[in-house]
Amino acid sequence: MTHSPIDAQSTGWSSTSAGMTDAIGGTPLIRLKRASDITGCEIFGKAEFMNPGGSVKDRAALAIITAAERSGALKPGGTIVEGTAGNTGIGLTLVANARGYRSVIVVPETQSREKLDFLRMIGADLRLIPAKPYRDPGNYVHYSKRLAEELGAVWANQFDNIANREGHRATTAPEIWHQMDGRIDAFTCACGTGGTLAGVALGLDDLATKAGRPRPQIVLADPEGSGLYGWVKSDDLSISGSSVTEGIGQSRVPGNLEGIAIDDAERIPDPEALTQVFELLRDEGLSVGGSAGINVAAAIRVARRLGPGHRVATILCDGGARYQSKLFNPEFLRAKDLPVPEWL
Ligand code: PMP
Repeated sequence: MTHSPIDAQSTGWSSTSAGMTDAIGGTPLIRLKRASDITGCEIFGKAEFMNPGGSVKDRAALAIITAAERSGALKPGGTIVEGTAGNTGIGLTLVANARGYRSVIVVPETQSREKLDFLRMIGADLRLIPAKPYRDPGNYVHYSKRLAEELGAVWANQFDNIANREGHRATTAPEIWHQMDGRIDAFTCACGTGGTLAGVALGLDDLATKAGRPRPQIVLADPEGSGLYGWVKSDDLSISGSSVTEGIGQSRVPGNLEGIAIDDAERIPDPEALTQVFELLRDEGLSVGGSAGINVAAAIRVARRLGPGHRVATILCDGGARYQSKLFNPEFLRAKDLPVPEWL
């Protein structure tokens, strides 16, 4: 018998997986060195960019498709339609490919070129439409609902379909809890659909109650141009400012966030988020997108407020390569008066 220098038992490599969908989730929880050092806390980022489709939304896609299969709505060879900033569309298309469905993906044309190219590459039936606010009937969410009806297809409805948050409650939350040995003081998270924040909040609550521990603080991380910060702070959804981040921020309260206990909120301006994105890359070798920058910036603020010795978790939602043409493009950054990393 030959001996590998790597112990298969300890790495979990001893078993094969039945298919791509088994590779969704089970992501590492990475200690963020600089964030931890400057706060005297332990700050961890869940490496969701390591999912097969490259983002946290693979989990929602799998949960939504599995729920539609179980309810009988999605039949073999069926079609699933969704309006998305891109990442959910990527997850849905890959899961649909793996399980024998078609996907029709509606995306506002303001989203990054890399996400759109990737959607085309993996075979999504991509429908690009002009970006419109939610109150406009041409908004991508309403458009995708109508399209699903016209096609006689299943509408994923990620914003209001609570299969989304239940997926995170069943997977993301217990992973974080166990990876942190049940010692977690706060969780910070930005919201698009709110599925990640809500599901992790519910799951951590379940686990803390079962363990007889205090439930961790749940803190919303919100970009400028979103109404959710005001909603948490003063029940006021009014909006000011704007953000170059994608996939997060809301002008309404999605069904996935309804009834969720959110303890506090941080509004993070783009320069603060992008400073985190660039420092994570330069100093820790972590390539992440803008929403991860918002999440880490919020985790640092919360850690400072809690004081040294506390333990904070957050989500590294997707990878930086998805935003090369924007967040890593000096011309784009200069035009928006945003910091430019010194190596670009
Ligand atoms: N970050 C990115 C890059 C995303 O695409 C999304 C989802 N649109 C989120 C964060 C937010 O995740 P959720 O929908 O679970 O709130």
